[in-house]
Amino acid sequence: MKKILVFGSSNTDMVIQAEHLPLPGETILGGKFTMHAGGKGANQAVAAARMGGNVTFIAKVGNDLFGQQARQQLINEGITTDYIITDPDHPSGVALITVDNKGENSIVVASGSNATLSPADVSGAIELINSDTIVLIQLEIPIPTVEYIIEQSNSRGAQVILNPAPANSLHKEIYNYLHLLTPNETELSLLTNTIVTDIPSAEQAAQILHKRGVKNIIVTMGASGAFWYSGTDSQLIPAPKVDAIDTTGAGDIFNGVLCVFLAEGYSLPEAIHYACQASAISVTRMGAQSSAPYREELLPGKT
Ligand code: ATP
Repeated sequence: MKKILVFGSSNTDMVIQAEHLPLPGETILGGKFTMHAGGKGANQAVAAARMGGNVTFIAKVGNDLFGQQARQQLINEGITTDYIITDPDHPSGVALITVDNKGENSIVVASGSNATLSPADVSGAIELINSDTIVLIQLEIPIPTVEYIIEQSNSRGAQVILNPAPANSLHKEIYNYLHLLTPNETELSLLTNTIVTDIPSAEQAAQILHKRGVKNIIVTMGASGAFWYSGTDSQLIPAPKVDAIDTTGAGDIFNGVLCVFLAEGYSLPEAIHYACQASAISVTRMGAQSSAPYREELLPGKT
């Protein structure tokens, strides 16, 4: 099985439930307060580890309690954390989230140490990359660092999977180095300057990215499943029908699980199928990272 290197963000999500979202200048008394480990990078690393992947997570946390807790939680999930750096000057990333009684939320993220992850910070982990590696990355860390990791991974023969969330533009050369790009519909619209609402519009937008050099595009389409486009093949892999109660982090779980099945040598449509199954399980429970299923739940008796 190939090893999986996830580069990305680590945050602590602080969530308060309230009757309504506060207006500018308003102070309200909320209800329940909960704290969860989050950040797209960490969520994807945990999803991959729970699915049985050999996962190393590379990130930057602050020299504070949140950073220590985040690192310990990743260790508890069986993830290699040797390349997580501690930033002496900036606090760990946090997200302050208010959720109202209709499920609407407002979120403010202070990226903190995530925003200082530099190419020099990841140079040690880059040495681990070879043709037996899958690299998974998102866009919650500085773009020059993302571009450096992608270039280095490509020149060392690794397969690179970019989850372009939140959407941001990259140097046009970078698209040539991507084995796989996994936008949701909104991100695909922003990346291609088109409006993606259905399969035909997703296919047209995917063609634009394919022309830029991306080998495979997988568009995650919520309850509809995921659409794969490779230039020669295209296919919708449907999502199982479930009673969704919280879709937060579904995309992260999809990406983490996809990597594991690709690392095990499954074909792309097979890996997408398992990623759809796993993310469908996750939307039936509350939370993002915590809702990632274990391999035994997906493939009972086949661990
Ligand atoms: P998020 O931002 O909430 O993490 P996303 O917008 O990045 O998610 P989605 O396309 O909403 O990504 O979801 C990712 C995958 O999760 C989908 O491709 C699908 O397989 C699965 N999924 C999401 N919502 C549902 C649902 N209601 N029922 C079944 N599967 C779902």
